[in-house]
Amino acid sequence: MNRVYNFSAGPSMLPLQVLEKAQKELVNYNNSGMSVMELSHRSGWFTDIITEAEQLLRELMGIPENYKVLFLQGGASQQFAAIPMNLFGENKKADYVNTGSWSKKAIKEAEKFGDIRVIASSEDKNFTYIPAVNKGMIDPEAAYVHITTNNTIEGTVFREVPDIGNVPLVADMSSNILSEEIDVSKFGLIYAGAQKNIGPAGLTVVIIREDLIGKAQDNCPTMLDFETHSESGSLYNTPPTFAIYMAKLVFEWIKELGGLKEIEKVNREKADILYRCIEESNMFTSPVEKSSRSIMNIPFVTPSKELDALFVKEAKEAGLETLKGHRSVGGMRASIYNAMPVEGVQALVEFMKKFEQKHQ
Ligand code: PMP
Repeated sequence: MNRVYNFSAGPSMLPLQVLEKAQKELVNYNNSGMSVMELSHRSGWFTDIITEAEQLLRELMGIPENYKVLFLQGGASQQFAAIPMNLFGENKKADYVNTGSWSKKAIKEAEKFGDIRVIASSEDKNFTYIPAVNKGMIDPEAAYVHITTNNTIEGTVFREVPDIGNVPLVADMSSNILSEEIDVSKFGLIYAGAQKNIGPAGLTVVIIREDLIGKAQDNCPTMLDFETHSESGSLYNTPPTFAIYMAKLVFEWIKELGGLKEIEKVNREKADILYRCIEESNMFTSPVEKSSRSIMNIPFVTPSKELDALFVKEAKEAGLETLKGHRSVGGMRASIYNAMPVEGVQALVEFMKKFEQKHQ
């Protein structure tokens, strides 16, 4: 089997066990004589898949009963518009924290719909840290406060959920959902594109407190209105059926591993191995402040662009795929989501040590 260790930021690695199960069921799902891709989304087979997917996600994340889980399309990017259109209410204002490229895109989109205040930003230092956010900064009349919990491109993470009082906290969790235990009740809304820790691209998960549903602006398109999908159990129109099925298999895999508590332990171990290697190296450095370092996306650089490029090239030859940093920041980035095994990070670290010896 010539599978590589794939450090892509997303779409990214899926657990081999999940791929093999999907392969086994591909042409004849559960004796239906059809592939999941061919099943009607209104069939009993698919109803079971989507119901189980939701139950598993609720169980894994400990989602309280007063929250709805929506399986949508359009990516996290579509939520940049859907969220203001649904939550703005009459005042049409919200507070945003700017921690990187994805926050900036969320802010830019929300600005089309009302008054956006950026209450904290780390742009002054190239987004290499997470700024402090506290209650005193929040406009009590803001419809919500938006944060990007994990910044995929810059490699930073909110270590603690900011305490913002009663204003609903909205979080883009695209790159760290399901990576560690979180208290869902601290959030009004959580959203994530699936293509990192959930499954294949094409599915977007929204977890929303029920009292925030049903308040969309009058001109909100039906397909962007959370109420549409909440009332129809995410079956208003044809949902991304195969992606939902794959997500279900991933949720089962996480459950088998012992849930988020156990996944978090492994994720911390993997990140420790890589950060330790960077700290001990004379060649590689991390641009990110220690207190803000992500355990999912780990950027690092050598002293020169030429050496960075050579690293990416030689790593690829060694079966370590997609280590090039995002085009906006350069250098390298190892995305080590749930499906990256410890062995993959160990292989990367071994390669880094050899590369340093060879090129110092
Ligand atoms: N937010 C974050 C934190 C992301 O990492 C990404 C994608 N990498 C997005 C939003 C955009 O997601 P999508 O491509 O699903 O629209």
